[in-house]
Amino acid sequence: MADATTTDATTTPNTGNRTTDTPLLSVQHLRKSYGDHEVLTDVSFDVPQGKVVVLLGPSGSGKSTLIRCLNGLETIQSGSIVFDGTNIGQASEKQWRSLRSTIGMVFQSYDLFPNLTVADNIRLGPVKVQKRAKDEVEQQMDTLLKDVQLSDYKNAYPRELSGGQKQRIAIVRALAMNPKLMLFDEVTASLDPEMVREVLELMLRLAKRHMTMIVVTHELEFAKRVADTVLFLENGVILERGSAKDFFTNPKTDRARRFLDSMS
Ligand code: ADP
Ligand code: MG
Repeated sequence: MADATTTDATTTPNTGNRTTDTPLLSVQHLRKSYGDHEVLTDVSFDVPQGKVVVLLGPSGSGKSTLIRCLNGLETIQSGSIVFDGTNIGQASEKQWRSLRSTIGMVFQSYDLFPNLTVADNIRLGPVKVQKRAKDEVEQQMDTLLKDVQLSDYKNAYPRELSGGQKQRIAIVRALAMNPKLMLFDEVTASLDPEMVREVLELMLRLAKRHMTMIVVTHELEFAKRVADTVLFLENGVILERGSAKDFFTNPKTDRARRFLDSMS
């Protein structure tokens, strides 16, 4: 996001020792097939540190598959995925287990553990996977819950929360791992309209605080506000890429124009 404001302890991204001009993520010539159906064809793009890339495209264009490839949920046929200086395109499942704590992901469906309280859902990764000190995790959790105005729900179970509250907790749970990159795949698609805004506002706050994010969304007004770069995917190919302003005001292809018309 261009109008950067102050950073804050809840979301200050972990930049490690990288210089800021190297992209945090660089995807080059990625190909993904299911059997003989090629779903992603020669996909290349960069995500600079602290920037937001919004992935748009019609249903079935390959957005979820791409996000899943970036989180090790799919194997890829060829190409490279360089994340924070390391090619993770062919990482083993064991390597992905540790990578997943630095690449946070939130899906459309609420994937909180139903049998755990909100607090236990959030604690699980930082304490069990990252083996961080309980006190420190507890403090960070309190700050994060306060930030999303859900402090009162610490001991509640997911079933006691609304859809919008569940998605905010799912985002908090990912943030509690101090990810360097956040992936969002249509996180508001299952929500009632009145709950969409609270989730989008949280994502806008993360962008303002320089969280590096890849966002799949059908909320075009939100996309306009949050995106540094828009990628328009059609049939597994990036048909257009550019600033949000250029894409929304002056799409270059008929396909993108039709897509935007169909959504408005
Ligand atoms: P989007 O998220 O843009 O709607 P997807 O990435 O879900 O698109 O799907 C892209 C294409 O890949 C579609 O043709 C879909 O049918 C196909 N596809 C997705 N997942 C699988 C799978 N597990 N097995 C086979 N084909 C799949
Ligand atoms: Mg999808």
